Amino acid sequence: MEFIDLKSQYQRLKPEIDKRVLQVMEKGKFILADEVREFEEKIAQYVGMKYCVSCGNGTEALQMIYMAYGIGEGDAVFCPDMTFIASIEPAVMLGAHPVFCDIEMSSYNIDPADLEIKIKKTLDEGIYHPKAIVAVDFLGNPVNIDILREIANRYHLLLIEDAAQAMGAEIKGRKCGSLGDVAATSFFPTKPLGCYGDGGAVFTNDESLKEIFLSLRTHGKGISKYDNVRIGLNSRLDTIQAAILLVKLEILEDEVKRRQEIAAYYTDKLKDCLVTPYIEEGSISSYAQYVVLAEDEKQKNELMEELKRNGIPTICYYPNPLHKLPVFEKDEYGVTYCPNTVEYTQRAFAIPFSPYLSQKDQNQVIDVIRKKIKI
Ligand SMILES: *Cc1c(COP(=O)(O)O)cnc(C)c1O
Repeated sequence: MEFIDLKSQYQRLKPEIDKRVLQVMEKGKFILADEVREFEEKIAQYVGMKYCVSCGNGTEALQMIYMAYGIGEGDAVFCPDMTFIASIEPAVMLGAHPVFCDIEMSSYNIDPADLEIKIKKTLDEGIYHPKAIVAVDFLGNPVNIDILREIANRYHLLLIEDAAQAMGAEIKGRKCGSLGDVAATSFFPTKPLGCYGDGGAVFTNDESLKEIFLSLRTHGKGISKYDNVRIGLNSRLDTIQAAILLVKLEILEDEVKRRQEIAAYYTDKLKDCLVTPYIEEGSISSYAQYVVLAEDEKQKNELMEELKRNGIPTICYYPNPLHKLPVFEKDEYGVTYCPNTVEYTQRAFAIPFSPYLSQKDQNQVIDVIRKKIKI
């Protein structure tokens, strides 16, 4: 069984994808050709933001955001303790100070109460200047944007949405990628909207910011390519990848629907023996992963082992809270830092999931889990 079945998706889309990729080859325009602009326009419209600027990957999308807003030395950036390091890594690279906030045990997204405590603490200490919140739609579950917006406004912070795992997700009719002041996403192959290599994008409603992003992705270009006005990157979405994404974007809504059905089936069959995902009323998760919580670390390891014995792959996203990664670890964090995140890493594991997972495979996963737990 595949953990994420990308092959079935390709089989479904093969004629169109092959055709569009071959067209790119025949036209011979591989860098920033029409397909890239067409995709940027279509996905901006889909997400509900005025502008999309595509780039090389999700990490560089976040880097361009931090650079565009001049985040660096002396600034504090607040992020959830449970996310992929890329949410905060580029900010730290630019000299900013990361502040890790605990997650809610329901949504696994940043806990607004802990966020506010950490902002106040940072202000009291007076060493770093609170500058931005990175709101991560973790596992495709939209962040509680109304509360985060209130907090961002109260403390005059930039609200950056990391929607790398959440293309297709929405909250109260608003699509992820449009929730913050600015957003980043990734088209890594296994994300809900993935290409066949690396890719990423930023979203903004601000035309002057869009111009800065366009400059940043091409070595800080000015009006032309060779009158560079700032230090930038070389970060582009390949034309071939844009061609593939144009085809995949067409079926994203259908896939999100399938994801809801498959998730609902798992939840129905597993909710009495494991903690299943909690999605707020009015939200639609893109289920980048379907994650369950075991009773404790011991049961998690036993279940993962038993599933493996039965040929069923599982993964822990992510095995360490950010504050415990060797690169960020500090004595001052102590053993009580972000307790929910620590608990999450002990109990959580992801089971096979994709819009193409068959009910037969789902039943096999469910049977192995239920037998092991003996319900
Ligand atoms: C995947 C991911 C990124 C980085 O995207 P890449 O395209 O791999 O660089 C950033 N943030 C989150 C939450 C992610 O899941």
